[in-house]
Amino acid sequence: MSAEYVWNQCLSFIEDNIQPQAYKTWFEPIIPVKLHDQALSIQVPSKFFYEWLEEHYVKLLRVALRKELGENAKLVYVIKMENADKSTSFTEQIPSKHKSLFAPQEIDVPITGKDPGLKNPFVIPGIRNIKIDAQLNASYTFENFLEGESNRLARSAGQAVANKPGGTSFNPLLIFGNVGLGKTHLLHAIGVDIKEKNADKTILYISAEKFTQQYVESVKNNTRNDFIHFYQLIDVLLIDDVQFLAGKSGTQDVFFHIFNHLHQNGKQVVLTSDKAPVDMQDIEQRLLSRFKWGLSAELSTPDYQTRVAILKNKLYLDGMEMPEEIIDYIAQNIKSNIRELEGAIISLIAQASFNKKEINLELAQHVVDKFVKNTKKEVSIEYIQKMVADYFEMDLVTLQSKTRKRHIVQARQLAMFFAKRYTKASLASIGSQIGKRDHATVLHACRTVENLADTDKQFKKYIEDLSKKFS
Ligand code: ADP
Ligand code: MG
Repeated sequence: MSAEYVWNQCLSFIEDNIQPQAYKTWFEPIIPVKLHDQALSIQVPSKFFYEWLEEHYVKLLRVALRKELGENAKLVYVIKMENADKSTSFTEQIPSKHKSLFAPQEIDVPITGKDPGLKNPFVIPGIRNIKIDAQLNASYTFENFLEGESNRLARSAGQAVANKPGGTSFNPLLIFGNVGLGKTHLLHAIGVDIKEKNADKTILYISAEKFTQQYVESVKNNTRNDFIHFYQLIDVLLIDDVQFLAGKSGTQDVFFHIFNHLHQNGKQVVLTSDKAPVDMQDIEQRLLSRFKWGLSAELSTPDYQTRVAILKNKLYLDGMEMPEEIIDYIAQNIKSNIRELEGAIISLIAQASFNKKEINLELAQHVVDKFVKNTKKEVSIEYIQKMVADYFEMDLVTLQSKTRKRHIVQARQLAMFFAKRYTKASLASIGSQIGKRDHATVLHACRTVENLADTDKQFKKYIEDLSKKFS
């Protein structure tokens, strides 16, 4: 008889006696490692796992093992400890802590009481009760989270969750989208709303980064169990930027167990991420599959109307006024990030008051230019051609035409030269986009421009003027 054989026999008995989900969560990850006399050693992924088994499944384990190994069967847990440095991972062996585990008289398994003196960073010491500060930002409300096409699903799912935490199928609710589109705001709004309606619920907002730091600390200080128990007390757990967990398998493991505990107990979990679950990398499959249990809702870039509404709301909240045409100008020009939209307004107000200038369109253009320039990713070949054509007062068709007229050839060569300098496109790709030329033509154009820049003053001026538009 091998450990594997005995354990497989136990498993089929266990599987018949518990819920499939519980079986999957708590028994599938176990690895049988050794059979010695009548003692079976099984490896569990964490200390928490071992505690959970002892607390909830010890009777079942006893029956199963006895069937296989007889009255004197024993169980030993082997715990894989995860260290920051993987090469030093070691194992700890613990005999089942219920000494009388397999004694016939033992019936009730004592459940360990919660330690009232939990050490954790969010506890405000009270006289009797443990109070956990929710870490919520009260100004991030649903009211201030303006609705638009881009956020309708996420916003209403958030409201549904806030109305019935843990009681909808949106558990977990995962909100994802690019930076600056309102993930953190919405996450707080859910928490703030729940807190208003349910004074008794324990809510916690935390970034995945801080969660990770706390976990690492707890491992260092040997308080990992306190850490886990603390998080298991939460009714509504709001974790921001879970993409931060990528590649951190120890933290993912502990989060997996906390998540399972909360979920099984009808507690609400809301997560945000900068990516959809399908695009997340270095997140363990079992965790990803949990993320997909509930609802994934995207925050996309807001349309023009929503941008205007957000700007007006921001101004209203700050007690400021601004001419329509300026709001319009900002909303037209900053499109992909709401934080930048707000940043432009703040900077505009600051510029105007420091320099005692009037807020006018010129100032707005100046401010927006700075914002947009800083965030401009890469100039496109299309943009370069357009700027060159404009500069020489010709249209695009002329620039791309087959003509040999000198000033047109030069404009085309300049466009090729800038495309080479400011984009990552290949010579062949530049050629095909600028008048369907081959790569040799582009190479020749670049050399010609460099030569002319050295010998022709007027031409040098062209290059300088145009460069300003691209860098
Ligand atoms: P993310 O977490 O996605 O990077 P944030 O939640 O920090 O984005 O949002 C950036 C800024 O934009 C915040 O000041 C937030 O209040 C604001 N914002 C985002 N979406 C909206 C919205 N729909 N209505 C009002 N303000 C919004
Ligand atoms: Mg955020």
